[in-house]
Amino acid sequence: MTFRSIACALLALLPLNIAQSETDLAPSGAGPLLGYSAETVAPQRAVEKKFQERVSAANIRENMRRLSARPHHVGSAYDKDNAEWILAKFKTWGFDAKIERFDVLFPTPKIRVLEMLQPTHFTASLQEPAVAGDPTSSQTAEQLPTYNAYSADGDVTARLVYVNYGSREDYDRLDRLGISVKGAIVIARYGQGWRGIKPKVAAEHGAIGCIIYSDPKGDGYFQGDEYPAGGWRPKDGVQRGSVMDTDYPGDPLTPGVGATPDAKRLALKDAKTITKIPVLPISYSDALPLLKALKGPIAPEEWRGALPITYHIGPGPAQVHLQVVSNWDIKPIYDVIAVLHGSQAADQWVMRGNHHDAWVNGAEDPISGQAAMLEEARVMGELHAQGWTPKRTIIYCAWDGEEPGLLGSVEWVETHIAELQKHAISYLNSDSNGRGYMFPGGTQDLGSFISGVARDVQDPETHLSVYQRAHLASIAAAKTSEDRNEARKRSDLVVEALGDGSDFTAFQDFAGISTLSVEFGDEEDGTEYHSIYDDFYWFTHFSDMDFVYERALSQTAGTAMLRLADADFVPVDYAPQAEAIAKYVDELEKLLKDKQVEFTERNLELKEGVFEAIKDPRKPIGPPPAEIVPPYMNFAPLKNSVEALRKSADRYSSALASLQALGSPMLSTPALESLNADLLSVSRLFLNPKGLPERPWFKNQVYAPGAYTGYGAKPIAAVREYMDQKKWKEAEAQVPQVAQVLANVAAGIDKAAADLESGLPKAH
Ligand SMILES: [Zn+2]
Repeated sequence: MTFRSIACALLALLPLNIAQSETDLAPSGAGPLLGYSAETVAPQRAVEKKFQERVSAANIRENMRRLSARPHHVGSAYDKDNAEWILAKFKTWGFDAKIERFDVLFPTPKIRVLEMLQPTHFTASLQEPAVAGDPTSSQTAEQLPTYNAYSADGDVTARLVYVNYGSREDYDRLDRLGISVKGAIVIARYGQGWRGIKPKVAAEHGAIGCIIYSDPKGDGYFQGDEYPAGGWRPKDGVQRGSVMDTDYPGDPLTPGVGATPDAKRLALKDAKTITKIPVLPISYSDALPLLKALKGPIAPEEWRGALPITYHIGPGPAQVHLQVVSNWDIKPIYDVIAVLHGSQAADQWVMRGNHHDAWVNGAEDPISGQAAMLEEARVMGELHAQGWTPKRTIIYCAWDGEEPGLLGSVEWVETHIAELQKHAISYLNSDSNGRGYMFPGGTQDLGSFISGVARDVQDPETHLSVYQRAHLASIAAAKTSEDRNEARKRSDLVVEALGDGSDFTAFQDFAGISTLSVEFGDEEDGTEYHSIYDDFYWFTHFSDMDFVYERALSQTAGTAMLRLADADFVPVDYAPQAEAIAKYVDELEKLLKDKQVEFTERNLELKEGVFEAIKDPRKPIGPPPAEIVPPYMNFAPLKNSVEALRKSADRYSSALASLQALGSPMLSTPALESLNADLLSVSRLFLNPKGLPERPWFKNQVYAPGAYTGYGAKPIAAVREYMDQKKWKEAEAQVPQVAQVLANVAAGIDKAAADLESGLPKAH
């Protein structure tokens, strides 16, 4: 919120001539293009211009209306219907398209009971009622009930404890308050970290059941008017969602291999990614009586939500009965894969994807992304019919089963891993889209590239370029003058590392493919995430009502696809990536230092009796435990590799600059062929086939999610995760292998730089 208002205030104050005063803000649609020669750049810009002009907001709106017209979760009639409709569209547009089916474990609710037995009786409704005026909210017969998929079955009765967000830090606080959740049922609010972490950490602390509710402070009346007066979650709104554990994504029964009919499947009892305890999501109207019935210590200020009660922690006297039983069925999922064959380098694949399944109608998640992606493909088909053919092969993927656990994309990548590693140049993902800024995520070798694309797309409401808006917002968001100066100096957008959380995961973390994620957001008026109210009526009243940011997403992602597909050589630049990785290594060093200082100080204060002295004797809170101060770790191998990486990246960037200084002449065909082959292989070098030490499915040694962050990235997870667990020796033992991976990457970049240098015409 703060960030948005600062950004807007800043934009209002800007003098109008800012664009002319900044050399890096060349008018869109002009200037050289990374990966293009002087002779190929003009025709490319002409194709892109045509493409952008033809993207129609009205078509995207119609796609959304059709795809979100009925509930379309995995296994539903309309999920299959949508896949077939998408398939037919791709075929009409001239793509070589088919459906690939997988059979996956997808639990649906059979029994859901939540009642309070003490001190009074209350039965939770567990229902989201239809809203007058919102036509699809009453499609009760087809709606999936509110639940968390992959919750363990269970029938438990116990006293209740409020655990805030249910993070590990929250349990540390409970320990100090002398409150145990052993044998208890916990109630956590949604927010701060991925939902699946809440039952996981609860079970680790001995809880026997977990309830997750949506507090109005996070996404309800504290933020804005409730639906349907406003766009925010109403009192009975519930966030569905998967709580599948993060050992590996995809079908729990077929880790590492595609869930094809003949795949070997684990027995259900051996599937590691199902929760240990039953878990159920509820609305705040169902949560309020439970929270109100808690006594015990008053919750710390940071733990309090926006309900009209004094938040107590418990345990009890509220006693609740929770029962969750699922139908553990194998269900079909339908990925639509659509290919536009390349003319000159058909064996190099440029890939694009967005899921089509939703929890209910899913107008925002995922249809706002899917509808825009389909419009890209339509225009590409039109250009193709009029004579344009991409140099490389373009592959569009409409994934099924993303919501339960990235099922469609993971099973597809696992099935096609050998071909993918041979052919794939890049994977561009989107998911939900809204109004506002574009902040790209992904692997930073594509950072310069996507910034170039963003320069050439106009923000529909401010008429700045998408790049300018994001760039200026990053200045506004900087917290220190140092950060502000750095943001000002940058000529590319910061590309945030991705962990998990959408269909890029298998491409980046398992297959080692350069990845981008693009979406607009931060200016929607509310959210109905994973509820029956995320539908066409809500989207057309409270999100991108005119579909102009939907059009901008099509234009951005589509231009990126065209530019990647047609480039003479793959438009990567490794300098931003080397810089980002250097930062990740610095963060590891800083983390160690911070922990040394923190634990030394804490142990000293324990000795001095600080905690005993400052506590209110009438509100006892125990001291934190003494900690072993971490030993120094040897990061030298990592730092040496980072230096090598920087050198190689600089060498490649200089070769690019020399090429441009020479007027971007066309390289010879053999030079281009070996350069492209080398560029394609660099991102594969980030993999270690053995994977992360405790999560072998995750092969990428730089880009990975954390075991306790879920969606959030934990770069260099092999080292970092052990540090988070205070296993300093194990962390240090991982340093050499990550250093070796980075050294391999540096060598790969060097090879590409040598190709480029030898392809340069000799100076006279
Ligand atoms: Zn989604």
